[in-house]
Amino acid sequence: MSIVAVVGRPNVGKSTFFNRLIQRREAIVDAVSGVTRDRHYGKSDWNGKEFSLIDTGGYVKGSDDIFEAEIDKQVELAIDEADAIIFMVDVESGVTGMDQEVAKLLRRSKKPIFLAINKVDAASRMNDALEFYALGFENQYNISSINGSGTGDLLDDLVKILPEKEEEDESELPRFAVVGRPNAGKSSFINALIGKDRYIVTDIAGTTRDSIDTKYNRFGFEFNLVDTAGIRKKSKVKEDLEFYSVMRSVRAIEHCDVVILVFDATRGFDGQVENIFWLAQRNNKGIVILANKWDLVEDKESGSVKEYEKHIRQQCEPFVDVPIVFISVLNKQRIFKAIETAVEVYENRSKKVKTSELNEVMLPIIQAYPPPAYKAKYVKIKFCTQLPTPYPSFAFFCNLPQYVKDPYKRFIENKLREHFNFSGVPITVYFRKK
Ligand code: GDP
Ligand code: GDP
Repeated sequence: MSIVAVVGRPNVGKSTFFNRLIQRREAIVDAVSGVTRDRHYGKSDWNGKEFSLIDTGGYVKGSDDIFEAEIDKQVELAIDEADAIIFMVDVESGVTGMDQEVAKLLRRSKKPIFLAINKVDAASRMNDALEFYALGFENQYNISSINGSGTGDLLDDLVKILPEKEEEDESELPRFAVVGRPNAGKSSFINALIGKDRYIVTDIAGTTRDSIDTKYNRFGFEFNLVDTAGIRKKSKVKEDLEFYSVMRSVRAIEHCDVVILVFDATRGFDGQVENIFWLAQRNNKGIVILANKWDLVEDKESGSVKEYEKHIRQQCEPFVDVPIVFISVLNKQRIFKAIETAVEVYENRSKKVKTSELNEVMLPIIQAYPPPAYKAKYVKIKFCTQLPTPYPSFAFFCNLPQYVKDPYKRFIENKLREHFNFSGVPITVYFRKK
């Protein structure tokens, strides 16, 4: 999927614009899964073309007194990672020094740039917008993120330059993406697997532009490992920028089947790791969590592993059915277990439950615990089936789908997980009219 980044200095309206594009879809997705969202990354579509939108400003902290250097990094990353860039400026403030600075960086890049002059809420402001021609961009649009005017023209032109359809990967091999924050141990993990292993077949440089794929063969199971850590072109980029790890992960995650999320157990499963977790979840990817550097964790009796695990699962609520493997890449502890787990998750994600089996299991459960009556009406679920999506999704056919509320959906999801192994895999449950 194409990635579009929105850059610009604080307060020009980037997040307002982002929300406008994402909201309609979000509303639908949220209703299904009810989980917390990353407010700076989402999917949008226009004229039938889907793309990922990233509000880069959202990842930079202290947005009011932001340093110019931070903006520079943001812009450089956007240039590296995105397929197209929306450069947003504010007609109220006119061209500022920082706008000129950003423009200079963007003009040097070869990426398509769309200059969005925001807050042109009324025709009377169109004149003021003319001064932005000085920035020297061909594609210039007067927009209002608040009332939506002009955004259609911008999106029309934007989606025109996005590739028509995803180029299919050359190989049909399962793709495992190793992601996480900087210094979590991703490269070490991959090196440990690859370094001494005779089973490696080839190195394929970049099926996706910025990650390295390695074809890997073990126990008769072949897959591509996607390394997001390998390349660090820009030493200028401050490594602990949240934006950095998320941006780096987006493409790898979108293109993989299973996400191997590595984090440093001495630092904990923090908000930034969580962001990557939700990125994987909302893309319906399989997930394995690796708690690395377990050798450094002092107090390791079995009790503390359980405690630690419990804590991680709390962070992942409500998607708690995820394998967590405690590893030490340094001591080569459980790294193959980690890969075996990823293979299992891959299989869970590709699983197709036969309609007959599904109904045999689920209908008696539904009979015993039907959806609660709503407005004195009873929901009758007749049958269910797994849909032919690349990840598990299920349709339950009933008379009044609109009366089935989230708690009951979660109940159904839990029962599906209890009876069929979907560990590590987000599943979607729909109720449809029959
Ligand atoms: P960001 O820091 O670039 O993400 O900017 P925000 O989206 O937070 O917007 C900054 C301020 O500009 C907020 O008070 C918005 O309500 C306001 N704003 C955003 N878009 C528009 C617009 O199209 N017209 C007007 N008049 N105000 C806007
Ligand atoms: P990346 O940025 O995620 O690719 O992380 P690296 O693989 O470069 O690892 C960051 C640092 O953590 C390096 O100094 C590694 O030697 C160290 N490291 C990686 N795995 C382990 C581990 O299991 N135990 C310990 N003690 N250190 C580790």
